[in-house]
Amino acid sequence: MEAILADPSVRVIEVRRGRVAGDAAGLAFASTVAAGVEAAYLGRDDNGVSYVADLGTGANAATDPGRAMDDPQGPPSGISVRDAGWQLAPRDAGLATEAIALAGWHATHRFCPRCGAPTVLAVAGWERHCIQDGSAHYPRTDPAVIMAIVDDDDRLLLGHAVAWPAGQFSVPAGFVEPGESLEAAVRREVAEETSIMVGEVTYQGSQPWPFPASLMLGFRGRALTTTPTPDGVEMTEAMFVTRGELTALVEDGAVRLPRPTSIAHHLISEWYGGEWPDTRWVPGPS
Ligand SMILES: [Zn+2]
Repeated sequence: MEAILADPSVRVIEVRRGRVAGDAAGLAFASTVAAGVEAAYLGRDDNGVSYVADLGTGANAATDPGRAMDDPQGPPSGISVRDAGWQLAPRDAGLATEAIALAGWHATHRFCPRCGAPTVLAVAGWERHCIQDGSAHYPRTDPAVIMAIVDDDDRLLLGHAVAWPAGQFSVPAGFVEPGESLEAAVRREVAEETSIMVGEVTYQGSQPWPFPASLMLGFRGRALTTTPTPDGVEMTEAMFVTRGELTALVEDGAVRLPRPTSIAHHLISEWYGGEWPDTRWVPGPS
């Protein structure tokens, strides 16, 4: 890291409060990391330019205050990958995602889970070591499943979660539990949230989702039953829609679908057969 940071071509990405410096046109790179600030190596491009994340001092890198209006630190600066990542070029989106994921892990793993002693950054930001027992700890990624559930009439299952703004709908999603296969997680989450039973499950693709530490694994699932019942706890509405019904609901403004950043958007578009008629989106759930 010393050699990398001494190279004048190094590009430093500052992460603060879950955001990275820059705007939708591109990341803003610094050339140095201040003394005493934790930093992580992100990689090197085809031109030999190295990229490093400036992780701040931990607490200030931890969380994205999002849209909290009463944040005592004032409005956050920089770009939110969650909101605007889809506007970034692929290289910048990848760098920002990696930097935010690492910053979030470092900020929340400052003490050893074995003995409670402080940990220190090691291996260019890809480990933390306990100062008491020397144990090594590695960045975590939590698997979550997200799924387009389609019935025999080619209708798509959409749900409205209790925490979302009125009219916001998406496909079901949830965390994989300990000891569970991905296929079982898909079937359990859909059954819990909507009471729909799912048969065949097919992998579609994945997306890192560092808010704070998820890997979203996308699936298509075949519905074995056709009458959804929302659980009333996580989901308050659930429905199967045809393409024509969804088109009308979106055009009427009765239904809003996920922002283009998310794999949910891609799963729905794939079932729909292209972009739906209204691609406007509002801040809200993924
Ligand atoms: Zn320890």
